Amino acid sequence: MLNVVLFGPPGAGKGTQSEKIIEKFELTHLSTGDLFRKHLGEGTDLGKLAKKYMDEGHLVPDQVVISMVEDKINNTSGSKGFIFDGFPRTTAQAEALDKMLKNHGMAISGMIALDVPHDVLKERIKERGKTSNRADDQNEEKINTRIKVYLDETLPVAKYYEEQGKFKKINGVGEIEEIFNQISVVIDSY
Ligand code: ADP
Repeated sequence: MLNVVLFGPPGAGKGTQSEKIIEKFELTHLSTGDLFRKHLGEGTDLGKLAKKYMDEGHLVPDQVVISMVEDKINNTSGSKGFIFDGFPRTTAQAEALDKMLKNHGMAISGMIALDVPHDVLKERIKERGKTSNRADDQNEEKINTRIKVYLDETLPVAKYYEEQGKFKKINGVGEIEEIFNQISVVIDSY
């Protein structure tokens, strides 16, 4: 089993690279942002709850996210593993993920972090906002909040995996194919 955490700030390119990774390595894509947006589109209670946080650029409470991920893991079978995209975003989520995987006889193979400077991130998110229809991509203040939340709450997750010798940083600026090649080399080494 290959279980990869793709890590990086909002706009780092996790979604783009995930698409390529799942195709090449036949993994199941588990993006918490995508799952929330699906709930939002379907108008479920979970979607309504998440919207309040997402629209402001804040994190959805840990327990809500963790239950949703657990559900997805429990309902996926016959997969070669998962690519976790946008999760875990707090140390509590990382600890919960370890427990969930352990219950299934699995573990995280490694975390791959996409490194992108903040000015580049802001430009990318604003550009995406023109077509993404995402309230959180449209406004400078919300983008700044998301980057701040990332620095305060999410960055410690990198340390969590670094301490386990499972952390690898990759330059996230450049050609999509070139970045993907670097990611592939890391996954092949697991
Ligand atoms: P981005 O990485 O561009 O910010 P995502 O699609 O990953 O976009 O997430 C969008 C929003 O969904 C986040 O700002 C947050 O409100 C919510 N969200 C997604 N994943 C998580 C998570 N693991 N924990 C808490 N909130 C989350």
